[in-house]
Amino acid sequence: MSTHAGVIALVGRPNVGKSTLLNQLVDYHLAAVSHKVQTTRHLIRGILTHENTQFVFVDTPGIHQAHQKQLNRALNRAAVAALEECDAILFMVEAGRFTDEDQSILDLLKRQKRPIVVAINKVDKVKNKEDLLVFIDTLKTRHEFEEILLISALKRSHLDSVLDALARLLPESEALYPEDQITDRPLRFVISEIIREQVYDLLHQELPYDIAIEIESFSEGRRKTHVEALILVAQNSQKAIVIGKQGSMIREIGIRAREEIERLLDRPVDLRLWVRVEPHWVDRFEALDPLQR
Ligand code: GDP
Ligand code: MG
Repeated sequence: MSTHAGVIALVGRPNVGKSTLLNQLVDYHLAAVSHKVQTTRHLIRGILTHENTQFVFVDTPGIHQAHQKQLNRALNRAAVAALEECDAILFMVEAGRFTDEDQSILDLLKRQKRPIVVAINKVDKVKNKEDLLVFIDTLKTRHEFEEILLISALKRSHLDSVLDALARLLPESEALYPEDQITDRPLRFVISEIIREQVYDLLHQELPYDIAIEIESFSEGRRKTHVEALILVAQNSQKAIVIGKQGSMIREIGIRAREEIERLLDRPVDLRLWVRVEPHWVDRFEALDPLQR
């Protein structure tokens, strides 16, 4: 029997039910899923193996902010990379509500020229089923979608239709990710970029030299993700600048970076930062591939 495998970008504005859907799929096909692990390239939310098909769901952090001017560069890069490398897109919308934000996300998705399946979620909230048919018709005018599905992630209705529709779009392939090869490296890299960006945004006038960020530890707790990171500077004077008066600067860096990382991971984060003077960090870092840092 042939096997299929592929990468699916799960996209939709905040609150449409993306996390709920993934959590339900995780519960539904329990043993087959590794949750929120990261592989070499993608920011993976979940891997699901079901009836000879491996579904690799990736996140597109930042894409829902596409309409905002100040889009975090690291998040944007990660989002576009995820879209470019996916085999199919699962675009989630809310029954009866298609907002400007939905439209700007759709505009971005259309540029990727990947097959798009729409999951209209929260149909349990709709009293009049006629309204759903009208909603489907208006969606059809916006793009030639592969399929338009009516689901309720919360009530677990028609979740199999989502998997069936996606499975048809995935190429014949061996499993992409054996679980024992999964690492959190790319996620660490994106997190270190987020921290670095906050340091630059706040201190680019005062810090003449490059700084480096080293993720010391990363662990997924039950309620929070714990991250410990080192900010490496070349001199004592720079350390004082990064720390600021009574720690005010490093506190501000920490708050801003934590908010970005929480948006990326979609869960609470406990971020601890330290500053260390390490005159030779450049020599140590330059030899390394960014994904290996
Ligand atoms: P995300 O921001 O796209 O990840 O959205 P969430 O998964 O966090 O869901 C946002 C809210 O919508 C939560 O309160 C969910 O319980 C709710 N929700 C998700 N799916 C459904 C659904 O199928 N029906 C209803 N009634 N509520 C849902
Ligand atoms: Mg979510």
